[in-house]
Amino acid sequence: MEEKIKERIAKHPCYSEEAHHHYARMHVAVAPACNIQCNYCNRKYDCANESRPGVVSELLTPEEAAHKVLVVASKIPQMTVLGIAGPGDPLANPEKTFRTFELIADKAPDIKLCLSTNGLMLPEYIDRIKQLNIDHVTITLNTIDPEIGAQIYSWVHYKRKRYRGVEGAKILLEKQMEGLQALREADILCKVNSVMIPGINDQHLVEVNKMIRENGAFLHNIMPLISAPEHGTHFGLTGQRGPTSSELKSVQDSCSGNMKMMRHCRQCRADAVGLLGEDRSQEFTLSINCQNHPPPKFSASFGSQGLVYNPANGNR
Ligand code: SF4
Repeated sequence: MEEKIKERIAKHPCYSEEAHHHYARMHVAVAPACNIQCNYCNRKYDCANESRPGVVSELLTPEEAAHKVLVVASKIPQMTVLGIAGPGDPLANPEKTFRTFELIADKAPDIKLCLSTNGLMLPEYIDRIKQLNIDHVTITLNTIDPEIGAQIYSWVHYKRKRYRGVEGAKILLEKQMEGLQALREADILCKVNSVMIPGINDQHLVEVNKMIRENGAFLHNIMPLISAPEHGTHFGLTGQRGPTSSELKSVQDSCSGNMKMMRHCRQCRADAVGLLGEDRSQEFTLSINCQNHPPPKFSASFGSQGLVYNPANGNR
């Protein structure tokens, strides 16, 4: 990995294997809707592109989310990164997503912002992403072949119309490719997630890896399909199996000659808080922490001394 990229991700626990021991991250779940249907996802749960399937996060308004970020930052000083990864697709909920980022950028400008998306609306919102100084974006890209895509996505909803099969997969792929290039032009770091689905895209992921590397992605995270029937996903109900750990490792190894592979991903919840592998989200739920501190008059701010609360309303 280039030195200048290493510097940029040095404090990002999701991207740097070293940083994940020392720096904490936080996800806020403000984005419920999604604009595609992946066959490994049940929309009763969080986005399976980013989280372990079967997890339900606490949905917040942008104001609640920004308030929670300030509370958490005051209690976990190593918190360096705030991400929006669901519970649906952040860019299918642009107003909620960008409002949250705006509030946080205003009150806690030192916190790095990142978002994860299926990529469908990425070209549309790239200017807003740039304006907000979001410097890391994750795209989930499972294939560069629409025929394979048709086996992974049930439908794609784009510009008020629902597309199925190869037609839908083509639109998604086109937008993902445009998004990748736009991120590169904007000098925004891009990681790619791919879900490995045996018999569908497992043999094809080396090609995906080559393409994303040529288009500027700096990190590739190949994640195993999790398809337990009790999660109620299409793949879970039709018996599609996930890869064994040796199959996963073998595909990661075949790609690793090409670029840095990510192997420490924990498939965090959309409301994860804390160090990777030490989730503290349950300490910071609305009912526990925010009940006595109703969403905010934004009485907290970051100053040279760190987080400063305005004593006037005692919001501490
Ligand atoms: S993009 Fe995420 S939320 Fe949308 S269907 Fe796929 S896994 Fe589910």
